Amino acid sequence: MKDDLYEIEGDGGNVAAYITDEGVILIDDKFDQDHQTIVDDVKSVTSQPIKYVINTHYHQDHSGGNAKFLPTAEVISTAMARTNILEHKQLGNVQPPAVSPARVTFTTELDVNLGGKEVRAIYMGRGHTNGDAVIYFPALRVLHTGDLMAGTSPLIDYNGGGSLIEWTKTLDNALKLDFDTVIPGHGAITDKAGLQTYRDNVEKMRDRVSALIREGKSQADVAQFMETEYKWAPGSIQQKWSVPGMMQELK
Ligand SMILES: [Zn+2]
Repeated sequence: MKDDLYEIEGDGGNVAAYITDEGVILIDDKFDQDHQTIVDDVKSVTSQPIKYVINTHYHQDHSGGNAKFLPTAEVISTAMARTNILEHKQLGNVQPPAVSPARVTFTTELDVNLGGKEVRAIYMGRGHTNGDAVIYFPALRVLHTGDLMAGTSPLIDYNGGGSLIEWTKTLDNALKLDFDTVIPGHGAITDKAGLQTYRDNVEKMRDRVSALIREGKSQADVAQFMETEYKWAPGSIQQKWSVPGMMQELK
């Protein structure tokens, strides 16, 4: 996508690979079964080894490759992403040992400087979980949002500490950074205006659901509304993870 930054879509979350003369910095590592594909894709553009893997958050489709990278790379995440993996939150989504916790963690920011290039991993507040890092490539003016931007509507992982109220504040913090290209957690590459639109849609959805809950609508009513308006299918992960928590948080 840029001279030395590559994106790998397909199965699981979007991976970014930043190539330097002293090694590769990888953002997210998809599922355990995607390991070889990632390694092969990186090998097709550089002979440099993958030295750092930064997880945007604890979910298996972003951190599922950790176990296979840990022997040869330094794996980094927020402290809360590590805690979430250790506590096996959202059973069925985190399946140890593939989703192994990072060795190196941070609470507000950690910068990796390699081969004269810089990557900044920054915790900007709760949203999708309570441990989402946004990854900033200052020289390229690129931001990888993890699942703070993914799909057409937000998935709030309340068991992983997520918050629909905090989500927009977290994105407001991220939007203060100087960038013009956005790699979302899932889906096509976009720009800063695309992220702003996503943020505004999160707010709109929250306001609509808040209004329903304050009118006294039941959880079943809200579930039906989400199905009709946002295509959250019955039994989907959105319905299971987000709706009960929304009833609590937005009342
Ligand atoms: Zn996720």
